[in-house]
Amino acid sequence: STQIHLAERPVGWPTDATFRRVSAELPPLSPGEVRVANEFVSVDPYMRGRMDDVPSYVPPYRLDEVMEGGAVGRVIESASDALGVGDVVLHSQGWRDIAQGAASDFRAVAEIPGVSPSVYLGMLGMPGFTAWVGLTQIAHLAPGDVVFVSGAAGAVGSAVGQIARLKGASRVIGSAGSDDKVQMLRERYGFDAAFNYHEGPVRHRLREAAPEGIDVYFDNVGGEHLEAALGALRDRGRAAICGMISQYNATEAPTGPRNMANIIRRSLTLQGFTVNHYSRLFGEFAADMTPWITSGDVVFDETVVDGIENAPEAFLAMMRGSNTGKMVVRV
Ligand code: NDP
Repeated sequence: STQIHLAERPVGWPTDATFRRVSAELPPLSPGEVRVANEFVSVDPYMRGRMDDVPSYVPPYRLDEVMEGGAVGRVIESASDALGVGDVVLHSQGWRDIAQGAASDFRAVAEIPGVSPSVYLGMLGMPGFTAWVGLTQIAHLAPGDVVFVSGAAGAVGSAVGQIARLKGASRVIGSAGSDDKVQMLRERYGFDAAFNYHEGPVRHRLREAAPEGIDVYFDNVGGEHLEAALGALRDRGRAAICGMISQYNATEAPTGPRNMANIIRRSLTLQGFTVNHYSRLFGEFAADMTPWITSGDVVFDETVVDGIENAPEAFLAMMRGSNTGKMVVRV
């Protein structure tokens, strides 16, 4: 089988030398194990952090081992009563074409007619759940709130905008890195206003989009976006600090927002979160999201890269902004 390993720890942006393609011979199944042919493999921003040898909420990747991460596939061989051949499963064995191990490492997921199982890596998986947790548990979204989300055309951001609208936000504003994405935000994802942050400064574009200010900021980007949001948040505003992708490949420490005193003046709440700490709420999220998907109240897109050997390129393309919605690799 084909696997992608971490070959060396990158400094700044990963390169071709960061990864290595490896052919591996898989042992026969032991009792209780299953073998799974992956159909879709996820590439996610958090993976950049795991390439560094620093302690975090998930341990760093080990050199010369598989790039672990979310994947969905179908059981092709089973030595377990828990899963049968043909079952669709979600797991975290990452960038490989064939996964195998104890059946308990794989979670069976329902096939939704007309919906690709890759939905479990995106809108009905970790990124969609992240959007839901950030809005409901961290930002305490209330009906009537004006919401701003950065990275709005990505996997998490496109979920944030739509969940916010469905949960009663009065106005939803998004920023993204291209005019095509901005058009998608307005015309497909139902944003009330959107702007291309390359046509900055962000604080000017945000003031045009939200002249009266915002109540909730969902931060996927950090840096200039966070400073602009701190300038726009109204009294008792809340910010869910979810990601700071503008800094993940930085080699120097970034400067912080210069307007932190607004937190005092306007009684703001900024709270960071890691979605893994909220897994007890996944069922509540799925009970919201599954009917939204089947009814079409929530729409989603995926950018698909073919071939497991292209997972590194898919990861880098996602970090550069080539994706709309969730970036996945089709095996
Ligand atoms: P996306 O699908 O949003 O893909 C990443 C996007 O980031 C790109 O498409 C690009 O879009 C944007 N981007 C890249 N560089 C910059 C930059 N310098 N400034 C602004 N935007 C940039 O990824 P996800 O939806 O999976 O993740 C979004 C964020 O959520 C990330 O920060 C991630 O780390 C975070 N996250 C946090 C979790 C948590 O538990 N706290 C869980 C999951 C994700 P564009 O064209 O708009 O630039």
